[in-house]
Amino acid sequence: MEIFDVAVVGSGPAGMAAATTLARHGAHVVLLDEQPAPGGQIYRGIETLSKRDPALLALLGPDYARGLDLIHDLRASEADYRPGSAVWQVTPEKQVWYSRAGVSQGVAAKIVLLATGALERPVPLSGWTLPGVMTAGALQILLKSAGVKATEPPVLIGAGPLLLLLAKQYIDAGIRPAAVLDTARVSKFSALRHLPRALGATGRKYLAKGLSLMTALRRSGVPIYRGVRDVVIEGEERVEAVRFVSAQGPQRLAARLVALHEGIVPSQQIARSLRCDFIWDKSQHSFRPVVDSWGGSSMPGVLIAGDGARIGGAVAAEHGGRIAAFEALQQLGKIGEGERDEAAFAERRAQQGHLAIRPLLDALYPPPPAILNPHDDVIICRCEEVRAGELRAVIALGCQGPNQAKSFLRCGMGPCQGRLCGPTVTEIFAEAQGRSEDDVGYYRIRPPLKPLTVREFAEIDIDG
Ligand SMILES: Cc1cc2nc3c(=O)[nH]c(=O)nc-3n(C[C@H](O)[C@H](O)[C@H](O)COP(=O)(O)OP(=O)(O)OC[C@H]3O[C@@H](n4cnc5c(N)ncnc54)[C@H](O)[C@@H]3O)c2cc1C
Repeated sequence: MEIFDVAVVGSGPAGMAAATTLARHGAHVVLLDEQPAPGGQIYRGIETLSKRDPALLALLGPDYARGLDLIHDLRASEADYRPGSAVWQVTPEKQVWYSRAGVSQGVAAKIVLLATGALERPVPLSGWTLPGVMTAGALQILLKSAGVKATEPPVLIGAGPLLLLLAKQYIDAGIRPAAVLDTARVSKFSALRHLPRALGATGRKYLAKGLSLMTALRRSGVPIYRGVRDVVIEGEERVEAVRFVSAQGPQRLAARLVALHEGIVPSQQIARSLRCDFIWDKSQHSFRPVVDSWGGSSMPGVLIAGDGARIGGAVAAEHGGRIAAFEALQQLGKIGEGERDEAAFAERRAQQGHLAIRPLLDALYPPPPAILNPHDDVIICRCEEVRAGELRAVIALGCQGPNQAKSFLRCGMGPCQGRLCGPTVTEIFAEAQGRSEDDVGYYRIRPPLKPLTVREFAEIDIDG
């Protein structure tokens, strides 16, 4: 088995910055990512777009174009970047197993650095599994990775910066959303206590960007419904309409395409499978791994950086990746503690600047109660088609927690391995049993973390 100093999983801003820094300091590093090109969620498809469609690149904005520098540095480094590599197991001994082009292989590393980012929070609403309903992130992925725009004007439902960004990108791309259904329910005034912290130099740039997105949306003339609740997506074979109550009263809009978004949550699978400690983050309303100021998890030799450690945005992730890389270099004996601290100083300061806006954003856009505790008839586990009411019924029978619910209902046992239903299942248990989310916990995650054929598994060349 090939042996590396560090195996980095995830080539978003955190993973790219980490791998580049490690390689620059002489570490033997492999960077694995399941996507065909580096960039992660934010800079997805950027190399191809910059060559093939500069107009679309410009349309996606300067924050997107920033990724080209990071990718350039990564490509110029000695880091062994392996695209198309879906990591399906990391063992406590730090063997990293991944599937690439239908063949599974493993590498061994002294340190594993997880930079697996975030995924969109599940939005289990009545009708969310109908064809024609997707996430805002999925619409954006189509745009970034294939230059594909929806042919139908989407109805955007939810809240948060990514929804606003997508609305603006779609308007600029010439597809005006049919409507925006704003589900934010917090009074802007109650969130204002976080404003002073957000008013630093970097925070002001984010505020200005947010305001310009809102202004662009208002000026576009797209109908915006505020205070939206009781959303039901209607349709027989596919989505046909959206019913909801807004500040103006009950509404019904015809719709052929719906995009949902209620923020993002850290990707937990690998760290969970390693039994790293997790904690419930009340302000971000999600679990996150317990990490120290260097990204060190509760598992020795496992570092976590970027949105996978805590949602902080792309630039904070980039700094976090470098900070974790300096820690790894120190653990490997390639730099001393003093050099590590000195090198990380500027990164930390810059990272703090980018994180200053977070408490305000978290307070402005909490997930709405309806998606945390959906109605009984709403499907919560899409893979196994388990409804919220079925889960509540087994809880009433004495089911103790998410892991036992798997045996009762198979929820969390489909191809997504509980990524989509996990957060909702925890919330439903917490509500029904009057327990804290920390107490309820989460699914015990087991490999393979990604779907793998039995044939591929059987053909692994263990000795090689
Ligand atoms: C759908 C979506 C769209 C977003 N769009 C924007 C945007 O336009 N603008 C913005 O500012 N922020 C956006 N964000 C937020 C953004 O993701 C981050 O703030 C930033 O990209 C975080 O960087 P990161 O390096 O921590 O993780 P990411 O950029 O998410 O990178 C993580 C990488 O890990 C890889 N990975 C995960 N698991 C595995 C595995 N098991 N095996 C192999 N590879 C794996 C993924 O393929 C991905 O490339 C988006 C988030 C999501 C979920």
